[in-house]
Amino acid sequence: MDDLNFECTGCGNCCHDLRLALTVTEAIDWLQRGGQMELLCEAIPWPVEPEPGNAQAEYKRARSTPAMSGTLPVRISIILAAAFTGACPNLHADMRCGIYEQRPLVCRIYPAEINPFVALVPENKGCPSEAWQKTPLQRQGVLVDETTYHLVQQSRRANQLEAPLRTQICLELGLNSAALANEGFLIHAPESDALLAALQRIQAAPASQDTTTEWVFVSNRTETVETLLSVGATGHLVAPTPADTFRYHGFFPSSPS
Ligand code: SF4
Ligand code: SF4
Repeated sequence: MDDLNFECTGCGNCCHDLRLALTVTEAIDWLQRGGQMELLCEAIPWPVEPEPGNAQAEYKRARSTPAMSGTLPVRISIILAAAFTGACPNLHADMRCGIYEQRPLVCRIYPAEINPFVALVPENKGCPSEAWQKTPLQRQGVLVDETTYHLVQQSRRANQLEAPLRTQICLELGLNSAALANEGFLIHAPESDALLAALQRIQAAPASQDTTTEWVFVSNRTETVETLLSVGATGHLVAPTPADTFRYHGFFPSSPS
């Protein structure tokens, strides 16, 4: 469906069981309100620069930072995510947002998509059928709601500008493991006070990018680890121990043990 109208019904469905991608400032605010945050890390093998004109690669490149895994050049992509199970801690019983005027960009943009390579499909959204009417949202697949359009642009700019800061946060916290992009996420859940302090430090004094950083792949699939090792990367199978501070969220079944 290329033409869509939309008017939020205030049902609150989109405010449950989420990982909300936040900007650095939003993450600081979220933690200061007592919310929980996670860092979702993935690494993209990047042995050579793609040919100019590859729009998808350019989009990924702009939102990631260069690093190494063994002798394999990679790009590190990190999402700063507010995480909650059940209702958002800011959601009131009558389904109103308790921080409506300060709510994160992603909340203002929903149900529109931020990633230009992802089509807006109503069936993939939590909005009831009666929400898809009244105000024009998109025509022939193009966003026509001006407010949403500008918010999407703002979100994309922040995501790009803050890519080095997100990597810096991981380095400040000693986190250097990531899932293979498109295979899963490695979810780091640092202690909130430590994360807040790191965010405030890097916001006050962003460092220049360190391209020599060493990252380690973690996967739930033997063939993935073997392939990565064969091209010079460092990596291992996910093998949670009580000392681990991360969880692995794979998109594919694990290899048999
Ligand atoms: S911050 Fe507000 S709009 Fe965003 S998920 Fe929470 S309750 Fe919903
Ligand atoms: S699920 Fe859709 S209709 Fe319901 S509150 Fe969220 S944006 Fe509005």
